[in-house]
Amino acid sequence: MAESKHTKVLIIGSGPAGYTAGVYASRAMLSPILVQGIEPGGQLTTTTEVENWPGHTEIQGPDLMVNMEAHARAMGTEIIGDIINELDTSVRPFVAKGDSGTTYTADAVILATGARAKWLGMESEEKFKGFGVSACATCDGFFYRGQEIVVIGGGNTAVEEALFLTNFASKVTLIHRRDELRAEKILQERLLKHEKIETLWFNTLEEVVGTDMPLGVTGVKTKNVNTGEITEIPCAGVFVAIGHAPATELVKDVLETHNGGYVKVEAGSTRTSIPGIFAAGDLTDHVYRQAVTSAGMGCMAALDAEKFLAEQE
Ligand code: FAD
Ligand code: NAP
Repeated sequence: MAESKHTKVLIIGSGPAGYTAGVYASRAMLSPILVQGIEPGGQLTTTTEVENWPGHTEIQGPDLMVNMEAHARAMGTEIIGDIINELDTSVRPFVAKGDSGTTYTADAVILATGARAKWLGMESEEKFKGFGVSACATCDGFFYRGQEIVVIGGGNTAVEEALFLTNFASKVTLIHRRDELRAEKILQERLLKHEKIETLWFNTLEEVVGTDMPLGVTGVKTKNVNTGEITEIPCAGVFVAIGHAPATELVKDVLETHNGGYVKVEAGSTRTSIPGIFAAGDLTDHVYRQAVTSAGMGCMAALDAEKFLAEQE
């Protein structure tokens, strides 16, 4: 028979926002349940060195998230490997349905579902996804030892991925639609002086080219945004690093969103447009999108939920 679980606080998501909410809600004696989702540990599990988490000059992303999980668990958070498919915000308690068949009922919900990689949306990108086209250098970089790779984008992710991929590739070309990077200055400096990295400015990806049998990438065609000139670059791997979109599938029709789909919260709080539903981390934040700010919002969400529940009583 399908299981049903009730909790005062259901935390959906296991990135820095979710685990921090778990620590704070546990310490407030709310016995929270945290559902991890398809990516336990969140986005930082897809990277290597994290150099801006206070207290560690350098820590591996996956290690940091294992530590956070252990911390939340030690404080008393019940951590469950499940994916929430549906959230009914029209009833009290709120009802969430898990992929496992479990139904979770909760007096308050903290949404910490973060963000997911964006794709360019072109046919050839789709065709070669998983066969030369990737959005995760940490996951797939190893497959391109001694080969040429291109990275698309100009933010922190693109620059970090390009630098990381030099560990495997013979050459990395960073293709960006402008001639100015959005990435932090320290990363830009490392990129621009790296002997294995070339940059191609004012270019966008026009097409990924490759073979059908076996399915694989042999190069890309790029287009100069000023002149329309097409450049062909041979490569075995294409890493798309053009940003992330908030994971709002559960609530996009019921919660107010803004700035391209980010869940709107009241200024200075994590309160959403539905009382009892709180949101924290990259799901709500189109500006900072950092581990430490997400963790901060996770803390705020647990404190906001505690106050909400006390007021209900
Ligand atoms: P996320 O980390 O996105 O986690 C979201 C969680 O929600 C996941 O666990 C997922 O499984 C879960 N989830 C989603 N949908 C569901 C569902 N339906 N049911 C249950 N669970 C669900 N920031 C830094 O500060 N420093 C860095 O060095 C740094 N490096 C980065 C490198 C890369 C490659 C990337 C992509 C990001 C990096 N960031 C870095 C940004 C940082 O990872 C994010 O700001 C942070 O992880 C956001 O935390 P979050 O808790 O909001 O969500
Ligand atoms: P981002 O900062 O939004 O950068 C996306 C990049 O992709 C931009 O350079 C953008 O170009 C380009 N782009 C977007 N759409 C495109 C398209 N259709 N075609 C071509 N190029 C396109 O995303 P991000 O780099 O993934 O970073 C997300 C957040 O995580 C940021 O807040 C970042 O600081 C954080 N993060 C932090 C670290 C760190 O602290 N070390 C590491 C990784 C990520 P334009 O510049 O022209 O807009």
